[in-house]
Amino acid sequence: MAAKAKKRKVDKEDRRFQERWKLQYFFTESRNNCVCLICKQSVAIAKEFNVKRHYQTTHANAYDKFTGSDRAEKVKQLEAGLASQQRLFTRAKDSIENSTKASYEVVLIAKHGKPFTEGEFVKDCVDGG
Ligand SMILES: [Zn+2]
Repeated sequence: MAAKAKKRKVDKEDRRFQERWKLQYFFTESRNNCVCLICKQSVAIAKEFNVKRHYQTTHANAYDKFTGSDRAEKVKQLEAGLASQQRLFTRAKDSIENSTKASYEVVLIAKHGKPFTEGEFVKDCVDGG
């Protein structure tokens, strides 16, 4: 009778990151991407087929030996590694911005042979050098 009870919503759920992929395929979710914890590659579409294929063709040889709590521990380690890598990236970006600003100041000092006070700096910008 109730044969039509099967809904089609399975389709949509299929394209979202599944928590179990962490343990099964060493994948995690980062900034709305499905990211491989091992090589940090992301898959274009978060489908189990893609994630599974990536794991099986790339990492299964080396990582299938981790089972049970070893596997969970490995996932935790890799997640921590990814998080610290992202923090590092943010810091590197900040320091590039700072050093760009610093080298601009060095150029101005070189041009005028002395450091600026803030007033002189503004005047230099307005006069165009
Ligand atoms: Zn990978």
